Amino acid sequence: MSCSRIRTALSARLDGEEPPPGVTEEQVAAHLEACAACRLWEARAQRLTEHIARLTEADTTHGGGTPGRPRRPF
Ligand SMILES: [Zn+2]
Repeated sequence: MSCSRIRTALSARLDGEEPPPGVTEEQVAAHLEACAACRLWEARAQRLTEHIARLTEADTTHGGGTPGRPRRPF
């Protein structure tokens, strides 16, 4: 199992998606145990995903925070 396939599976998992066909959770776990580079990659990807989630949340709060905007009857 190559690192890139594992990382594709990890990325899918972080996004709440199904892992790519042919990659099982067991394989991912076993690879992570053996491969420090992918463990590091997962930690970074996880932080990035959380960061993006926070940004998106802030965006939604901000963007949706303009209810009842007075309309001028032009
Ligand atoms: Zn790896």
